[in-house]
Amino acid sequence: MVAMTTQNNTSLNLQLSDTIQRDFPELKFEEASQFSWHGGKHVISYNTAQLKDERGLWALLHEIGHAQLKHADYTSDIELLHMEVEAWEKAHESAKKYGIHLDDTYIEDALDSYRDWLHIRSTCPTCQERCTQQDAHTYRCHNCGNSWRVTRSRHCRPYRKNKK
Ligand SMILES: [Zn+2]
Ligand SMILES: [Zn+2]
Repeated sequence: MVAMTTQNNTSLNLQLSDTIQRDFPELKFEEASQFSWHGGKHVISYNTAQLKDERGLWALLHEIGHAQLKHADYTSDIELLHMEVEAWEKAHESAKKYGIHLDDTYIEDALDSYRDWLHIRSTCPTCQERCTQQDAHTYRCHNCGNSWRVTRSRHCRPYRKNKK
């Protein structure tokens, strides 16, 4: 049997999180219920309980990635997806520096949830055609002329009027 140390890495992870936060003095880190980047205020929110787990560190590095790339606002869903991809790439770079191993499957799953979200939002509720976005709130179908509104928040589930 391979002698794997399955000891609790909690304190190690929290130490690492402190180190990471100190390395970005230009950013403000605030405790919150979830991880996010607030471009205008240069604030990264984080969840301490989740930082005890390695995935919390990944999330922290991901939000720092957004900050490094100066991601602020986005005007379309596609742009948001690109930002997500880029932020994970940045997270990959910095993870190496801290000896953190980012799990590719985890990242792909995270990106897939954005892709699914995008797919639902961009599919015409009338004719199921995949459509392009008109502006931050509106999609219009090139096939049947239908248009529908989407909410701004990426944390919200894509509710929309679906005329069946
Ligand atoms: Zn992100
Ligand atoms: Zn349509």
